[in-house]
Amino acid sequence: MNREANSNNTVNDGVETKPFQAEVGKILDLVVNSLYSNKEIFLRELISNGSDACDRLRYAAITEPALIKEDPELSIKISINKKARTITVADNGIGMGHDDLVENLGTIARSGTAAFVDELTGDSAKDVTLIGQFGVGFYSAFMVADKVTVTSSKAGEETAWQWKSEGSGEFTVTPVQREGRGTWIELHLRKGESEFLDPTRLRHIVTTYSDHIALPIQLDGTGSEGVETINSAAALWTRAKKNVSDDQYKEFYHHVAHSFDEPWSILHNKAEGRLEYTNLLFIPTAKPHDLFDPARKHGVKLYVKRVFITDDCQELMPAWMRFVRGLVDSEDLPLNISREMLQHNPVVTKIRTALIKRVLGELEKKADKSPEDFAAFWENFGPVLKEGIYEDSDYRERLVELLHCHSTNGDQLVRLSGYVERMKDGQDEIYYISGDNIDGLRNSPQIEGLLARGVEVLLFDDPVDEFWTGVVQEYKEKRLRSVTRGDIDLSNLDIDSDDAKEKREKRKAGTSGEIASLIGAFKLALGEEVGDVRVSTRLTDSPVCLVADEGALDIHLERLLKQQNRLDEMSKRVLEINPDNELIKSLAARAKEKPSDPTLVETAELLLDQARIIEGDAVTDPSAFSKRMTKMMAKSLANG
Ligand code: ADP
Ligand code: MG
Repeated sequence: MNREANSNNTVNDGVETKPFQAEVGKILDLVVNSLYSNKEIFLRELISNGSDACDRLRYAAITEPALIKEDPELSIKISINKKARTITVADNGIGMGHDDLVENLGTIARSGTAAFVDELTGDSAKDVTLIGQFGVGFYSAFMVADKVTVTSSKAGEETAWQWKSEGSGEFTVTPVQREGRGTWIELHLRKGESEFLDPTRLRHIVTTYSDHIALPIQLDGTGSEGVETINSAAALWTRAKKNVSDDQYKEFYHHVAHSFDEPWSILHNKAEGRLEYTNLLFIPTAKPHDLFDPARKHGVKLYVKRVFITDDCQELMPAWMRFVRGLVDSEDLPLNISREMLQHNPVVTKIRTALIKRVLGELEKKADKSPEDFAAFWENFGPVLKEGIYEDSDYRERLVELLHCHSTNGDQLVRLSGYVERMKDGQDEIYYISGDNIDGLRNSPQIEGLLARGVEVLLFDDPVDEFWTGVVQEYKEKRLRSVTRGDIDLSNLDIDSDDAKEKREKRKAGTSGEIASLIGAFKLALGEEVGDVRVSTRLTDSPVCLVADEGALDIHLERLLKQQNRLDEMSKRVLEINPDNELIKSLAARAKEKPSDPTLVETAELLLDQARIIEGDAVTDPSAFSKRMTKMMAKSLANG
């Protein structure tokens, strides 16, 4: 009997055949045909999964002791069958039921792997290098095996299921006789992979990658040695720092974080006294792939007296520290704590405060002692810490001290403390401009006047900059000031010689009548398109620029909100004109002489559109814009 359950799924004599999810198919293709040289990591992945499964069982058994009773000594067993060319990795952890097998081993179960698929290029040489960077978890078994059989029985269930696949396109699931709790993963090794039948080789792989696993890992090598435990089998974080090597920390990090970069920083501490806990925290070198997931989940696991409790205790770490990975093991919480009891728990709150201080302390130390190293951290995680400035007033001050910003002072990141030290005599505000990219900002007309006076301007290009600058009004009593909003008074900052100043005063007095006429003509021409037309103090070269009114939202923030549909209407901009610019000067003379000259209207429109383009805005009427442009060019050719 061959019954079609649905087009993707056939059942034949109890054997259910299912296709892999398309994304898994892509991973398998790559893994199966891969030239990846580090194939031995498959064992690390299977052991890591077995250890996770035991952690989950131990937690479930706190409330339901029957689950663990039939087989209470948790361990991972590796056995070799040379004749059959198989190795089996077995654990007596939580196990998987039918749906778990289909879901976990047939689709993409975690975001890291999903990100891996997103980055695939189709060029296998390039894609293979991604394996080491992302890890492909369970599917790495197919790097060495041409057939994988997973037999599993979930704790508390009567049934067992067998999942089988040759790694090409589909897998089968079949009910089988139950022989105990947990999961047995049998790998039938490919032709070239006989090295993994050698107990010495396997022992070496386990000590290299999995020594830190807190359960005994036993090897049944079929030889005369019998069964032996081949790892230290003690929770790594309980060891003294001096007894843990860098490589062991690194492998442990790979295991807890499911990331495969080097840790940028390792924080291993034991707190004793009123609050007793051990933390082993890692700050990654590379950006985790889910860093900007809307859920903003952190990566610190909670253990109680060596027992894994949860990786989802949101109170343990603030969202703005979600780049931290690792674990904390508490001696004060009760073992039978439920996840609900963790909410508003005073012990958790105290641990949280202590962890935040630890991490901040480490960041402050690095920022002071190794600025280059810190800059690399900041590139990855600065935007996340800035969320903290905005939303966590308790740590705002310390976070502001840690801020690193681009600036017109050079290509290096600068700190606010350094900015304040470099401030000019007479300067009493900290100036910044925000926009979409740093290079564009460096050339903004709105900062010309400041740069001409040697004043440094901070350059902000993170969307989150718009938010924290809204709550941090000042630093060391210097007001933080956007140069694209309101009036900026640069009169204290004039560094020109007296002579130059005098000349300019004279020129201004002489032309002010003309400039007033031009402003009048522009206002008339532009009407409702602008909020106002004013003489600028911030320009030195460009003829015009746009700024926001003092009371309005900053230009860049408005644009962001508009893009996110959180704002219906943009406020009107102020058009500032530069009285020292040659074009403006001639236009002003024309305005005085012949106020109704239609060229003035056209020039006003063109200059406004130009200013919009520099802001990164669209011109309001592109065809009118290009007609005006054409007309102007034709005119100038005719005259020249
Ligand atoms: P990850 O471990 O990062 O979640 P894997 O590809 O290694 O990704 O494993 C996918 C999922 O399959 C795991 O999250 C787990 O739910 C399940 N799984 C794998 N191996 C086991 C096992 N030995 N026991 C129980 N569940 C397992
Ligand atoms: Mg895994």
